Amino acid sequence: MKVHHLNCGTMRPVGGKLVTGKGSYFSTAELVCHVLLLETDDGLTLVDTGMGVDDVRRPAETLAFAWRLMSRPALDEAETALRQVEALGFAASDVRDVVLTHLDLDHGGGLRDFPRARVHVSAEELASATRPGKSGNDRFRYPDKQWQHGPRWVPYETTGETWFGFDGVREVRPDVLLVPLFGHTHGHTGVAVRVGDRWLLHAGDSYFFHGELEAERHCPPLLTYMQKRMQVLPELRVANQERLRELVRDHGGAVDVFSAHDATELRRHQQVPA
Ligand SMILES: [Zn+2]
Repeated sequence: MKVHHLNCGTMRPVGGKLVTGKGSYFSTAELVCHVLLLETDDGLTLVDTGMGVDDVRRPAETLAFAWRLMSRPALDEAETALRQVEALGFAASDVRDVVLTHLDLDHGGGLRDFPRARVHVSAEELASATRPGKSGNDRFRYPDKQWQHGPRWVPYETTGETWFGFDGVREVRPDVLLVPLFGHTHGHTGVAVRVGDRWLLHAGDSYFFHGELEAERHCPPLLTYMQKRMQVLPELRVANQERLRELVRDHGGAVDVFSAHDATELRRHQQVPA
């Protein structure tokens, strides 16, 4: 399996140092949408999709005004998964499977660009995202328009195997696992990918900043605030973050953990100096 680490949506919130611990308080910070593109013997698989072509072209239809104000997305069409898949010489129809950490607007935005793909997601997440009569945070975080085309959903209940101490793990494709990490949303999961004798774990929005998994745990204040603002199950989120720290401490040689929005982690995987 060949793995590409893509950024499918740069965001530039103000608050520099308060967001990424770098620069001044008044500079813009850089956040990314870390997406995996897996080349397998039977087609392509995407892990998360970032923002899609329609989000970039008509942001007012799917990306809530308050969210755009806070996140300041770059809205660069060349960053969408579709355009990057094409730049690698593939077609949209080569993407047979999409595996989602969750359905927040900056993770499922690209679904419309791959309408024929099977979309693997936890049943809890699908239920909360598509529930009629959503209100409050749910209304803006889960824009219905991103799945109006009727994706080929493949939902998973959280009964399954154990993987490095995590329970309810399901294999959704050969060597690709859905790992329940509820908290940020009701059905948020990580996605583990076996590459040779090691694993990658895309931990989605289980944590926002690489320093949160370090022994001397640290996270810039604005990211701490944003995580708390968006969480729906605080105790589970905190407990799962602790389990991720233990995973890195005890099995860091076998599992490489990264999150969705940290540019430092993305660059480490793309082997570009931060
Ligand atoms: Zn996110």
